[in-house]
Amino acid sequence: MTDESNSADESHKTDEEWQRELDAESYHVLREKGTERAFTGAYWDFKDKGVYNCAACGEPLFSSETKYDSGSGWPSFYQPDSPDCVSENADQSHGMLRTEVVCKKCESHLGHVFPDGPPESGLRYCINSAALKFKKEE
Ligand code: FE
Repeated sequence: MTDESNSADESHKTDEEWQRELDAESYHVLREKGTERAFTGAYWDFKDKGVYNCAACGEPLFSSETKYDSGSGWPSFYQPDSPDCVSENADQSHGMLRTEVVCKKCESHLGHVFPDGPPESGLRYCINSAALKFKKEE
């Protein structure tokens, strides 16, 4: 079989393929809906200008222009890079009712969205650093 890692059909990769391509923490967050510990990720306190791509499929998901300091210890954005790049699912795990945010292209778990964001949108996209790969603005 040929290497399909650049295939447009990212959502049909097998668990084995994802596990091979991602580091352990990113695999846990993206493919097992894990959550990194607050204040430990690469981007919670990171302020460079650029785009945050999906760490699984490379799709642009968030811009530094909508990133803000939520005090949560996770990278927080008040809106996605485009309305179409993420989708949302109801998540009732851990005895809470939350809204999960996933990459629309590859269906990987990114984090959650909460209705306590800044005035721009009122939304807080609380995203795991391990689900993102930053690309600096040229
Ligand atoms: Fe993705």
